[in-house]
Amino acid sequence: MSVRYLTSLSQVRQLDADEIKKLSEVEKKYKFRTNEYYLSLINWDDPNDPIRKIAIPSPEELEDWGSIDASQESKYTRMRGIQHKYPDTALLLAVNVCGTFCRFCFRKRLFFKENLETISPDISDNIDYIRKHPEITNVLLTGGDPFILSTQKLERIISQIREIEHIQIVRIGSKIPASNPYRIVEDPSLLEMISKYSSPRKRIYIITQFNHPRELTDVAIEALDKMLGAGAILSNQTPLMRGINDDPDVLAELLKKLSFVGNPPYYVFQVRPTIGNKPFAIPLVETYRIFQKALSKVSGLAKRTRLIMSHATGKIEIMAVADGKIVLRYHRAANREDEGRIMIYPAKPDAYWLEDLMD
Ligand code: SF4
Repeated sequence: MSVRYLTSLSQVRQLDADEIKKLSEVEKKYKFRTNEYYLSLINWDDPNDPIRKIAIPSPEELEDWGSIDASQESKYTRMRGIQHKYPDTALLLAVNVCGTFCRFCFRKRLFFKENLETISPDISDNIDYIRKHPEITNVLLTGGDPFILSTQKLERIISQIREIEHIQIVRIGSKIPASNPYRIVEDPSLLEMISKYSSPRKRIYIITQFNHPRELTDVAIEALDKMLGAGAILSNQTPLMRGINDDPDVLAELLKKLSFVGNPPYYVFQVRPTIGNKPFAIPLVETYRIFQKALSKVSGLAKRTRLIMSHATGKIEIMAVADGKIVLRYHRAANREDEGRIMIYPAKPDAYWLEDLMD
């Protein structure tokens, strides 16, 4: 099935002229892009449909809230296309296009024309950086969505990374298995490429982004199965978002189904306070409670997921809320002395990010 991409709300035939007009300011500010497969998952009779909230803009995105780069990724950007925050991990931003632009994207700044941190025009500079840093053992290909690239382009990048001896793990971060699984099931050369570079000693990990159980359609499951068959290791990450997966039953269903199909949940994130993200935001204590309630309904495999705040200083796990306190722990820290550090603060019900707890 050839899936058509749409880059303007006027191409969405399910929206009427009034709706499109109402959303024109949002569309001007934050790029819109999706595809017909993803739109077909929406129940258009439900104005609160969760998939609709992921793909279709809402006027609330214009509310004054959040910052452009909530996790201060630009601080760790060593050159265009390379982020290096933790010694062993480098992020290579391979592309700045996605199968669908998620309305809650924390990297929406990369889709602005004037952005300079975005992908490198010459990938060889990025490869050189990785080659010159032997402490890097794993590379996360991200963006944007690397599976938007042609298999040939993707292979050109992966083959160069694989030639670097100190790189053990190549991860590909992608929402394509959820937003356009036909990209995977209809391209045998992509699967051959995965199988070529995912060897018994050096695996390729594909980190998917399923946000809602309804995204796990038959064709999406087929795509996951084909990637597993090609030797990739799968895991999933998702933010916990208002109106999308904030019902503990829905979140539990997502976590369960992901573990059933061999794509176990890896991280569940506090939504970053990025501009435009107000409609999805949930305070920390409430996020924690929803997460715990969902975990109480799933098996041990799905329970391995961690609830994480991706802070500028590191990945901070939200460990517990008890006796009026919230307990946090650095799961990964930009500053080595912070690694594993526990922090305990009063559990303010409105606190949204670390700074709100510290006030
Ligand atoms: S797929 Fe990832 S990078 Fe692309 S819009 Fe969604 S969250 Fe952002």
